[in-house]
Amino acid sequence: MQRMTKQRIAILKCLSESGRPLHIEEILSYASVEIPLINLSTIYRTIKTLAREEKIALIELPGEKSCYEICQKEHHHYFLCDRCNKIYFINQCPKGLSEIVPKGFQILGHSITLNGFCMECV
Ligand SMILES: [Zn+2]
Ligand SMILES: [Zn+2]
Repeated sequence: MQRMTKQRIAILKCLSESGRPLHIEEILSYASVEIPLINLSTIYRTIKTLAREEKIALIELPGEKSCYEICQKEHHHYFLCDRCNKIYFINQCPKGLSEIVPKGFQILGHSITLNGFCMECV
C-alpha cells in the first residue's frame, strides 16, 4: 500500500492537469491552490519521492531550470518558450533523421528541444 498524502495528490494532479512540464515554482503555485500552507521544501521532498518511485521525471534542458513531468512511456520532445520560459510537449518526431547522420553511423536515439514563442507569447 502506498501512502498517498495530500501533497502527493496535489503535485500529481497539477502535473497531469497542466498537460506540460512544470518548474518547481509553477508546481508550488498550483499546489498552493489545493494546499494553501504548502511550502517549497515540502514540494521538493514530495517531488523527490515521486521521482524515486518513477511517477514523475526530472527534465533537464541545457541552460534551463529543471522541471518535472508525469512519467510517460511515449517518446516525446519539448518546446521551450523564450518569453515565458514555459515548456510544452511535442509528440511528433522530425522525419529523415537517418538521412543526416554520417555514412556508416547508427542512430540509437535522439532528443530534440525546439524554442521560440508559445501561443500566448507570439
Ligand atoms: Zn510563452
Ligand atoms: Zn523523437
